Amino acid sequence: GAEGILRRQSSRESAARTYARSLPIVPVRARGLTIEGADGRRYLDCLSGAGTLALGHNHPVVLEAIREVLDSGAPLHVLDLATPVKDAFTTELFATLPKVLADRGRVQFCGPAGTDAVEAALKLVRTATGRSGMLAFTGAYHGMTAGALEASGGAQDVRVTRLPFPQDYRCPFGTGGERGAELAARWTESLLDDPKSGVPLPAGMIVEPVQGEGGVLPAPDGWLRRMRDLTAERGIPLIADEVQTGVGRTGAFWAVEHSGVVPDVMVLSKAIGGSLPLAVLVYRDDLDVWEPGAHAGTFRGNQLAMAAGAATLAYVRENQLADRAASLGERMLAQLAELARSYPCVGDVRGRGLMIGVEFVDPEAGDGAAGAVRAGASGGGGVSAEGGAGAGTGGPLPAAPGLAAAVQRACLERGLIVELGGRHSSVVRLLPPLTLTDEQAVAVMDRLADAVGSVRS
Ligand code: PMP
Repeated sequence: GAEGILRRQSSRESAARTYARSLPIVPVRARGLTIEGADGRRYLDCLSGAGTLALGHNHPVVLEAIREVLDSGAPLHVLDLATPVKDAFTTELFATLPKVLADRGRVQFCGPAGTDAVEAALKLVRTATGRSGMLAFTGAYHGMTAGALEASGGAQDVRVTRLPFPQDYRCPFGTGGERGAELAARWTESLLDDPKSGVPLPAGMIVEPVQGEGGVLPAPDGWLRRMRDLTAERGIPLIADEVQTGVGRTGAFWAVEHSGVVPDVMVLSKAIGGSLPLAVLVYRDDLDVWEPGAHAGTFRGNQLAMAAGAATLAYVRENQLADRAASLGERMLAQLAELARSYPCVGDVRGRGLMIGVEFVDPEAGDGAAGAVRAGASGGGGVSAEGGAGAGTGGPLPAAPGLAAAVQRACLERGLIVELGGRHSSVVRLLPPLTLTDEQAVAVMDRLADAVGSVRS
């Protein structure tokens, strides 16, 4: 039974499981937004495989695409060989890309995970430029392999220069808005242009258009355009990590479309595999500097993932689910803003499309209060503007990870699965499928509001 499974799992599985991935549920069936546990309870799943399930669980078009391959007798694994399934996936992918990349792009199958594609991207730009330094941002998350880790926030590596990622709430410069973004851009510019900064011309810049694990922080469009201009002017390839933001999630098919920025390299995974493991790079053809075999890997030809992925990409495109994510996300954010007005422990609500974050703070905590983490004091290491903000009087209240975790548990009791994130794990994250109906959105919001009310009235 479920109890036995949970007991065995918690005694045998590594303590590395975190967040919602360690909630005490034993899913046995799933469809759309709903997961059914072994105990017969039903849950609304707003974790969605960390944003992987653009169409929710077991969408009929995805199952049909997988079944078609299985029934056709096609090989399931053929490394890098050309197949009709791969051809269909590539064609569908190129139909979604920004024009420059659709016209002049190359796709490189990496994988199976997002972090593998990040790794390939870092190596590609280092190979192409002959340089080794990398520009990455505070609060970033790019994966758990060595190169991706060093580019992620908080990591220390001599080859990575850490730059301030602009944000309104807990702005590193204490201003937020356009002014904060301007200061963040100037910081980057002066680091690159001042010979005394000690930062040599880097091999690339890697950025998430919306930081996900970092606490759902959308990059301002104007700031992203500044990053595009200043990298282009200096011959620095710009890598957009769209692992989590891609395939309609933020209200555009690719999140870079909001700003009109065309990156040199795009890192794609999660939803592109239609719930199966798949990761690719897309880049301009002049960056295709690999010699054959220069970047190999066994699991790069997952035919089932390509079939599921092609079906997902086509469904999102044909049904304009990115537009749907934009309008539904706006409505949900407006409702969450009301929640923030009712509960002082909701410090901030933010997001883009159906990538939504609710940050919990401790309105009663003074300096040094137990359980509260003073924002900005995390000391990301390296060159950073972190630490200056929010800690002063009148700034954002201390982050409250304990409260966020309590809300997550209260959500689960009410049949709602949500994820935690942010530098202090104080942000409740919602990543519902793009197929979310109006009624389901209301149910999600009601349960979340009820959960918040139950931990803080
Ligand atoms: N980049 C981003 C932006 C991500 O959100 C993630 C995963 N959360 C990764 C890379 C790493 O992907 P994976 O977990 O599949 O290695």
